Amino acid sequence: MNRLLKPTEGPLKSSFISYKWYALLLCCLVLLISLSWSRLISPSVRSAESDIPLQIQTPFDSQMSEPLKPSVYMSMFPDASTVPAAPANDPISTTETSASVASETAQTVVAQATTQQQPQHIPVLNYHSITIDPGNRAVITPAKFEEQMLYLSKNGYHTLTLQQFIDYMDGTTTSLPKKPVLLTFDDGYADNYEHALPLLKQLNFHATLFVSPGTTEDGYFLNWDQIKEMHEAGWDIQPHGMTHPHLPKLSAKSQAFEISEAKRQIDEQLKINTTVFCYPYGEKNETTLKLLQEHGFRYAFTIDQGLTTRDQNRLLLKRLFVNGEESIEPWIARLEQGSVKVKS
Ligand SMILES: [Zn+2]
Repeated sequence: MNRLLKPTEGPLKSSFISYKWYALLLCCLVLLISLSWSRLISPSVRSAESDIPLQIQTPFDSQMSEPLKPSVYMSMFPDASTVPAAPANDPISTTETSASVASETAQTVVAQATTQQQPQHIPVLNYHSITIDPGNRAVITPAKFEEQMLYLSKNGYHTLTLQQFIDYMDGTTTSLPKKPVLLTFDDGYADNYEHALPLLKQLNFHATLFVSPGTTEDGYFLNWDQIKEMHEAGWDIQPHGMTHPHLPKLSAKSQAFEISEAKRQIDEQLKINTTVFCYPYGEKNETTLKLLQEHGFRYAFTIDQGLTTRDQNRLLLKRLFVNGEESIEPWIARLEQGSVKVKS
């Protein structure tokens, strides 16, 4: 027997071990509670806390680009053909991605179990220029664009108005068409007026156009007369920055001008109240998100790839980039990914 061992040492040692287990259990409990809480807090709180930039690495990131612009436009936006690189490990983005994946999986399971016919995801297609420009993925030929629109029409898709989309996202309605899709067009290229307006009118399709008012006198982009005509034909018009800037590179004051002046001009020209923003180049930072909220914006679209779901952060909505270089098959596959099979 060890003479140095005090009578109380044995029991004390074992109780110390027990305390360690209790402490470990307590830590696990606290971790679980904090994880649950982080899932419960609202997207707007998360966005307010989130840091920047909020890009998510996707297979399409390295392939995407804004359409090449004519020399005038290129001088305004010298790196218009480049895509912002996504940081390798963005904890916010990772959380956002895993949370939305988990939620989408849960929604799919529920939908399959109840065979409900409500869509769980909304594909938001992201178009740019509609013309012939070989080698530019962000440009789609008029023939391919028509092929895609006819596919949507023949396969029972319903193009949403922006209000229908917002009502669904807000939860004020659950009565979406069985196969919804939101068509979005970035930048306001004049060729949209020539190639998209007549076809969409013929098919009775709705669409949303994101324009930068600073380009309306350019000639290469839509002018106000054309924008007004498209608006009267049922297109929703929303801002894409005043001059299509790289917002995170600007001061807060300049960002505020880009956001507020674009909204002011569109609201004034069309007698509307714009509340949906689209980030030029998909770029934003914490200041951008705060400014959007301060100026009354309720939703904002990124170029992060994926179907749009209700649980996504309202200011970080995903879309599906339309690669004009692809054939229709991969476009269909992306459009119909995650679609829930329901009993008719
Ligand atoms: Zn753009």
